[in-house]
Amino acid sequence: MDAKTVRDVDVTGKRVFLRADLNVPLDDGKITDDSRIRASLPTIVHLLERGATVILASHLGRPKGKVNDGLRLKPVADRLSQLLGRPVRMTGDALGAGVQVAVDKLRPGDLLMLENLRFHAEEEANDPEFAKSLADFADLFVNDAFGAAHRAHASTEGITHHLPAVAGLLMEAEVDALSRLLERPAKPFHAVIGGAKVSGKLEVLEALLSRCQAVLVGGGMANTFLAARGAELGASLVEADQVENAERILGEARRKRVRFMLPTDAVVATQIHARARPRTVAIGEVPPDQMVVDIGPQTVAAYTEHLGRAKTVFWNGPMGVFEIKQFADGTNAIARALAERADAGASVVVGGGDSVAAVEGLGLATRMTHVSTGGGASLEFLEGKTLPGVAALLGMDAEIASEKTA
Ligand code: ADP
Ligand code: MG
Repeated sequence: MDAKTVRDVDVTGKRVFLRADLNVPLDDGKITDDSRIRASLPTIVHLLERGATVILASHLGRPKGKVNDGLRLKPVADRLSQLLGRPVRMTGDALGAGVQVAVDKLRPGDLLMLENLRFHAEEEANDPEFAKSLADFADLFVNDAFGAAHRAHASTEGITHHLPAVAGLLMEAEVDALSRLLERPAKPFHAVIGGAKVSGKLEVLEALLSRCQAVLVGGGMANTFLAARGAELGASLVEADQVENAERILGEARRKRVRFMLPTDAVVATQIHARARPRTVAIGEVPPDQMVVDIGPQTVAAYTEHLGRAKTVFWNGPMGVFEIKQFADGTNAIARALAERADAGASVVVGGGDSVAAVEGLGLATRMTHVSTGGGASLEFLEGKTLPGVAALLGMDAEIASEKTA
């Protein structure tokens, strides 16, 4: 990446404010996927091994500016401590007199983790005073939180007005891998897009139409495109207010001569439930009381065949309700096909919380070229937007940077 990284500066003896994205999914206080913690390890280890004093900070969930005991970072500190093989001390707050005392006691090679930044409304408001207070703990700011880089918050943007700022190793890897999709990707470049809804992914779909040779659509969002083509989809999730946008995108794909593939068959069920009895039907034959829960085997065959020719693939969004095993075949088949493409030398990038969870769950993550930890951030990056957290590392503000790249 263009920004300086931790490898370009001497960190020995420095107090480093390290912003990581340790925002992991929790279920009843237990971490269900620790990939963001593991992905943050290289930078933490890099700094500690070189004798930096590390003040580690992250957000967790959406406490909306209030202390929320269910969103304390303690489980994250415990997991990090297991992975590092050393105790990880935590503060009870992200700032205040107590934190200052703890910071003052730190020695080179020590690590201290601050409590959830978003317990303070000033974090998301990018409050300058709050940013300054965080900066006062340290001599250097390292941003490794790619997953939070699409937000201009105090700990991702504001703080850079008070400290020299460099990128962490994960930030660098994410920006480099995603940049390669934007800058002369090997062709054919195909995108696989799924997930529940079209809304929220309109912009990325439009951006991909300008870059890809084919867009393969699955998941609930495919229903809205099929509805735009006049299909009856029974009780399926269809976004009525997005049908017009879907029509527009289909038109754009035709004009740009991008192959836009939609499912030809589907797995349907009367309800989204582990005990539901799924069956496979052709699109156009979805019974009125049933809903589409996965792409069907004919669609899987057509998609995997088409992907077999791709040299570059970006995948976001599962092909069905993969959380339920009987509705996961489509998602799993696409994941396996993409791992094979990557083995064969294609560049395969997976981004998005749920699609990444599916790939991790199948143990296929290491076979992919890159698995992004940044859900929303990776989509905004591919839309060609300048991420404020990245722009801040380049010493630009996001608006100026957007003008430059526009
Ligand atoms: P990602 O996190 O990878 O970006 P999304 O959050 O957009 O993906 O979408 C994931 C969600 O979409 C999953 O919870 C999945 O159950 C849901 N989903 C996929 N297909 C369908 C479908 N046919 N009907 C309803 N929900 C679906
Ligand atoms: Mg998701």
